[in-house]
Amino acid sequence: ARPATASQPLPAIELVGIAKRFHSRRGVVAAVEHVDLIIGEGEFFSLLGPSGCGKTTTLRMIGGFEEPTEGQILLYGHDVVGVPPNHRDVNMVFQSYALFPHMSVFENVAFGLRRKAVSKAELATRVGEMLDLVQLQGKSDRRPRELSGGQQQRVALARALVNRPRALLLDEPLAALDLKLRQAMQLELKRIQREVGITFVFVTHDQNEALTMSDRLVVMNAGRIEQLGAPREVYERPRTRFVAGFIGTSNLIEGRVTRVDGDTAVLEPGGGESIVVPDAVPVGATVGGPLHLTVRPEKIVISLEQPAAGRCTLRGRIAEVVYLGSSTQYAVRTPTGAELSVFVQNSSDSSDVAEREQDVWLSWRPEHSLALADSP
Ligand code: ATP
Repeated sequence: ARPATASQPLPAIELVGIAKRFHSRRGVVAAVEHVDLIIGEGEFFSLLGPSGCGKTTTLRMIGGFEEPTEGQILLYGHDVVGVPPNHRDVNMVFQSYALFPHMSVFENVAFGLRRKAVSKAELATRVGEMLDLVQLQGKSDRRPRELSGGQQQRVALARALVNRPRALLLDEPLAALDLKLRQAMQLELKRIQREVGITFVFVTHDQNEALTMSDRLVVMNAGRIEQLGAPREVYERPRTRFVAGFIGTSNLIEGRVTRVDGDTAVLEPGGGESIVVPDAVPVGATVGGPLHLTVRPEKIVISLEQPAAGRCTLRGRIAEVVYLGSSTQYAVRTPTGAELSVFVQNSSDSSDVAEREQDVWLSWRPEHSLALADSP
């Protein structure tokens, strides 16, 4: 029994113990190892990870373009393993758009309804609604080649939505667009998803894209889920070294545990400092053992004087200063061997500017020391 809560709506898509192995001449490739996942009705959900981690294969199994080697896939409570894609009540949007070049925009969108028995009048209404939704009113007679990349992507989206699927699967749909257009389309896609209210499952290797758009996301690595959560949770509380490095800057510090008190460990990273790390025991910290932690770059304060007691501190020397307009990024070498990135907002009241080769103190609040586990 899974209670539906506010943060976890009714399940639309459930993957239960999914594995996918491909057999090729070079042997067996385990594309997906053991994935359990519940995607809620109406969620914007992303599968995020590096190339080859299994995200496309996972999406294709939901769509019915691949069958799992093991496990069950439930769509709205029904097991769909073995059910062909066109009987699944989900549609897929590909990176390549796959529009018909000889058909007009109208005909391309109407094509999504071709197997449905709808009257001519209803067809015109529904295609019109979709063109409104993707803001292509007035372009219905154009051919795809007369449209920009972003407009073509909107046509593909309209075509996939016109038959009102319960879920839309999107495989890197923005990858072919340049950065500006891509960012505009991210907001646009989110608006469209909110308006139609259906479940979107979105595959991307771009962490910013996933953080910007998703209600929740999973980070995948080598065919497994490393972490599941809302963007803020995953960014602010990465649980593994892989997630800490893949989302944001890894800012890894490692050392030996010298003391344990409840769930909190005290770490000796070298250089005579000690760092308090809450919640370290649950990830396996023991006295004398190794421990990895990360601190997000915007949580670190650079100062020229010794910070107040009670903060975690490290000495360092500024190796690089990169001015980024609204913020400045510092790369700081520490005697522990770790080189840490620090982001400082360039607000009008920040006067404490450090320079290359300057010796500084780095400090942060103990709760921003994030203990990291190894990958599962
Ligand atoms: P990308 O972003 O590069 O598409 P991905 O995370 O989507 O990567 P998948 O495409 O799911 O990853 O591939 C996962 C693994 O399975 C890779 O090692 C890939 O080479 C392998 N793979 C995928 N499809 C097949 C196939 N049809 N036959 C053999 N191996 C495959």
